[in-house]
Amino acid sequence: MKSGVYAIIGILLGVFLCVAGYHTISGAVSFGNTLTGVTQSITPIFVLFGIGVIASLLGFAGIILEKHDKKIAAIQYLICGIFVLIGGLFIFGGIPAIFFIVAAYIAYQEGIQERKQVIEKESMIQCPYCQSLVPNGAAKCKFCTEWINKKEEK
Ligand SMILES: [Zn+2]
Repeated sequence: MKSGVYAIIGILLGVFLCVAGYHTISGAVSFGNTLTGVTQSITPIFVLFGIGVIASLLGFAGIILEKHDKKIAAIQYLICGIFVLIGGLFIFGGIPAIFFIVAAYIAYQEGIQERKQVIEKESMIQCPYCQSLVPNGAAKCKFCTEWINKKEEK
């Protein structure tokens, strides 16, 4: 669940920086409006940073998804990263995007690791005499040296 930690940092930074970015840029625009006398709408900025905030909050979905499928969670984090990057106008979205991409990478690696462990577990059988895990297909238990009857397994 190390990836979850990076995702939470990504969520917090994404929300914080997008809100801060919105205030900075909308402040600059309204200052520009008073200087030039030309009224420029801040709606596009609002929409963009709104996307950034929503994309960050969607990181929570990735954390939930991790319990079911790490690879899907990794894709989720990656999408969050891309949208927070765009929504946060690259400058504000860059840092949270990095955390999301790191979270995606770790989740993906953890997913591969988990799959390996499952395969390893499945290719092992329990010795009926000493309960140790022995490779599937072994005729003799290496722990208690008992002969394993394959027919008993079925
Ligand atoms: Zn044994």
